[in-house]
Amino acid sequence: DRRAWYYDWIMTTAEAAAELRLFGLGKYFQSNYKDLRQRLRGERLQLTRRQSLAELGASLIALLIVGAALGWMVWKALQGLVTLGELALIYAAFNQGQGLMRTLLENAGQLYGNSLFLGNLFEFLALQPKICRGGPPWPPLHEVQAGITFKGVSFTYPDATSNALDDFTMTIPSGKIVAIVGPNGAGKSTLLKLLCRFYDPVKGRIEIDGRDLRDFATDDLRRLITVLFQQPFHYNTSVRENVLYGDLKLQSSDAQIQAAIRAAGAEEIVARLPQQEQTLLGRWFSGGTELSVGEWQRIALARAFLRQAPIIILDEPTSALDPWAEADWLERFRELAVGRTSIIITHRFTTAMHADVIHVMDRGRVVESGSHYGLLGLKGLYAESWSRQMMSTDYAESV
Ligand code: ADP
Repeated sequence: DRRAWYYDWIMTTAEAAAELRLFGLGKYFQSNYKDLRQRLRGERLQLTRRQSLAELGASLIALLIVGAALGWMVWKALQGLVTLGELALIYAAFNQGQGLMRTLLENAGQLYGNSLFLGNLFEFLALQPKICRGGPPWPPLHEVQAGITFKGVSFTYPDATSNALDDFTMTIPSGKIVAIVGPNGAGKSTLLKLLCRFYDPVKGRIEIDGRDLRDFATDDLRRLITVLFQQPFHYNTSVRENVLYGDLKLQSSDAQIQAAIRAAGAEEIVARLPQQEQTLLGRWFSGGTELSVGEWQRIALARAFLRQAPIIILDEPTSALDPWAEADWLERFRELAVGRTSIIITHRFTTAMHADVIHVMDRGRVVESGSHYGLLGLKGLYAESWSRQMMSTDYAESV
């Protein structure tokens, strides 16, 4: 059912419209959808047929019993063993008994049906959260004084066969901008998921100011962190609400929202919109305005900035920016990040080079650390990847 719903969604959503047309996938999904619906309909028909047959059988049995009882009564009456009055009484009692039996069986059937659903419900309610605390939580932190440390952290995703992080050790000093660079699949985004405690490490510890993340209440921990996710969610609401979602608890003023939009480099985008901050975004509702991927990313960045958290994590913040806009934005970010611990996850070396410390990741481990020039001097993976990226004319012109 879910798969059929998924095909239905693919064929009707705006996100897939362009690819569906270009790659001519419409017919393919249509036939997949039809096959699935046909199968579902077949299974449903089979169930209904079985149910009808069972009902027919039960009715036949009931009819036979009624027939037999009536036959018995007529036979007794013919023999003169019962009077007509007694016969009427027996018939009424039999009728009532039959009605009671029917109700009893119907209720038993309903009870059985409901118990099947209740079984699912109780199974669901009995699920234990995997992210939980050992003892009473530490009082919440409001700032990071020493830094964040990953100590020998290993992590494997549920149902995955290989480690996403393998004996991973790294220190992020407080108040600094730290870049984490590395090829796709190196485990960069996994770090942020562990830091936000969406998962717990299989081995090792992650500490903030020397305290294990597991010692904090998850809400307190998450209030310390603001994140620009690699694929931020597109809320189909107004620009203002999109930014406000960064911190609903804080009754943000107009000035704070505008400052967040400015810091994200989104003021021009918002100014161009038909009703500026009040513009409805997305295509889910009529009158909405669709943004480009990069523009959505700017709005998500404003949302991340609105949250006044001491740790700021940006996952590929410049992926949708051209190199010129990137340099301009990074300069602004440095001003904004003063006093905050910033982690920038990126595969762009032109972004990473501006960080105070750069950690180079490969296959779940840190392989090199240092400043941009320090790492170039090492002539290792960073230096090699840097020169390869610099071969691209865009990058060469921008630096
Ligand atoms: P990066 O951000 O460096 O590109 P990730 O941290 O996203 O890499 O992924 C590291 C490894 O973990 C990859 O091999 C990826 O396939 C795997 N992975 C990522 N997310 C999941 C997930 N939700 N379930 C299973 N495996 C995952």
